[in-house]
Amino acid sequence: MILGYHRVGTAGWDPAGLTVRPDRFEQHLERLLRFGTVVPLGRITAHLAGEPLPRRAVALTFDDGYRDHLTVLLPLLERYQLPATVFVTTGSPGQFFWWDELGALLDPAHRLPDHVDLDGLCDPRAGRHEGGAGASTLGASVDRVRLYHEIADRLGGAPPELRRAALNDLRRWSGPGPEPPGGARALTGAELEELASSPLIEIGAHTVTHPRLADLPSAEARAEIEDSLRTLRRLTGAPVTGFSYPQGSTSAAVRQTVSSAGALYACASQADLVGARSDPLMLPRFWPGDFGGGRLSRWIHARWYGL
Ligand SMILES: [Zn+2]
Repeated sequence: MILGYHRVGTAGWDPAGLTVRPDRFEQHLERLLRFGTVVPLGRITAHLAGEPLPRRAVALTFDDGYRDHLTVLLPLLERYQLPATVFVTTGSPGQFFWWDELGALLDPAHRLPDHVDLDGLCDPRAGRHEGGAGASTLGASVDRVRLYHEIADRLGGAPPELRRAALNDLRRWSGPGPEPPGGARALTGAELEELASSPLIEIGAHTVTHPRLADLPSAEARAEIEDSLRTLRRLTGAPVTGFSYPQGSTSAAVRQTVSSAGALYACASQADLVGARSDPLMLPRFWPGDFGGGRLSRWIHARWYGL
């Protein structure tokens, strides 16, 4: 079983469910130790090539490369001496990721104007500043979680410059909003080097700008994959051979590119157990939520035994 997480830390409003609180994550580690054996992800990929694996083997992975992977996650892993793989997005070191900025702007504690034009948001064919016809009603009554997912879905498929413009528009409409928590910043180069120097940590790549790779022209997808691997190999001084597809977006062509860029395995987002016949470039993962140890145990058993 491969588990996928994002942040371990203190979240503000968390509409995408990306953060597990440190005390709860520690309970996850304790329960996993009772359940089975936490192994480096490489043991699971080696098992696909015929190597033995301990009973009930579980690998831990963390996507995106957040600062709190160094400041919160690593000390917990050290306490229990457990290995993990962190997949790092390389394009905006030290910056907030767009989805966390969006979450902060749409935080229910932050008052929004009654009307904003969302129709042209992230659509290069629409006049973004014309307003009026496409105005969506916001205000106090709107379901902020639904609004978050509606906008995040559009931003997730947009090129970085359109995303940036859309966030600037939202910030102008909503007024200066709260920032995401500091732990939600992307690792800087120096922080990444420090994290990678731990023998418990394997660094994998997660592209430069976190696009949906399957939707990109092949040359752009290739650049996203190769540049992120190259940057991480330079910063860590290690052979980076793991990859994770942002937003779970992949295709046969993308997997071919990942493989020819030197990755030996890649994690996807579909929820399943790894089996003897799993494709190493399409490794499934389960995604635990921000819940405590008792619920994690039931959750794991249900997935392991298919209950
Ligand atoms: Zn990601």
